[in-house]
Amino acid sequence: MGEILDGRALADQLQIKLKEEVEQLPFSPKLVVILVGDDGASEIYVRNKKRAAEKVGIISVVENLPKETSEAELLALINRYNEDPETDGLIVQLPLPAHLNEEKIISAVDPAKDVDGFHPENAGLLLTGKNQLVPSTPLGIMTLLNHYGISVAGKIATVVGRSNIVGKPMAQLLLQNDATVIMTHSKTKNLAEMTKLADILIVAIGRGQFITADYVKEGAVVVDVGMNRNAEGKLVGDVDFKQVEPLASFITPVPKGVGPMTITSLLQQTVKAAKIRRGIS
Ligand code: NDP
Repeated sequence: MGEILDGRALADQLQIKLKEEVEQLPFSPKLVVILVGDDGASEIYVRNKKRAAEKVGIISVVENLPKETSEAELLALINRYNEDPETDGLIVQLPLPAHLNEEKIISAVDPAKDVDGFHPENAGLLLTGKNQLVPSTPLGIMTLLNHYGISVAGKIATVVGRSNIVGKPMAQLLLQNDATVIMTHSKTKNLAEMTKLADILIVAIGRGQFITADYVKEGAVVVDVGMNRNAEGKLVGDVDFKQVEPLASFITPVPKGVGPMTITSLLQQTVKAAKIRRGIS
């Protein structure tokens, strides 16, 4: 039976610590979240980020723009916050409506305020091991593994999914921590062969309960990033928890696994960005 990697409990602990840290600062850090359109899931994520930010004493502003907002309008707003000395963290909630060029929008955010770590400059720093601001989901996963005393050094870690926001930065962090990393994606042949090699299996594909017992080696640590709605509207991960949990040594649940750690890392990155930009060590 796999031990549960309780992201919710750890996130609560870390947020209490972060609140204490924020209280010691001579200013209140400020996080701005720009949401374009009315994507239901995004609205929930943004609401959760705002609530968590306020809980730890971070001022949180949500800019909710209509879905027909033009690129020029969005860029102008980003620029306003880039130049606002009070704003420490600036994120644009993804996905964006189809008429907006995601790459261009992400690149417009000041890298010093890019607390999502998606800007090409921050991605490049991560790739070269000079981490500055790092994507929250993989960072939260590393924090969770560390907390449970799970070392990845020398282990085989298979990452399923290669998105810029989860899979790729996850692989970089694992590599920096001396794991032997196998990257897999939708064109991987014999995926199960690759996942069965894994001592640490990280799944971020967005396919409900795709990873069954056939994909997992006995004793593996299984981290499920996926958040999907099943036919009954229930939130499920990319891993079939019921089948995989008996095989795993450790496993994250969905919900209350990776999700709360993602938000906590975002808040930590906001405080970090605030301290760097305002010259506080
Ligand atoms: P993307 O859709 O951007 O990427 C999905 C990746 O999975 C792609 O690289 C794709 O491969 C790969 N993939 C899709 N199907 C398969 C398959 N059958 N076999 C192997 N690989 C496959 O997703 P994200 O990375 O943004 O998100 C993944 C999941 O994680 C989603 O459920 C999302 O909701 C969730 N998520 C959860 C977060 C949290 O805090 N818990 C945060 C962010 C995301 P290819 O590149 O070849 O197309």
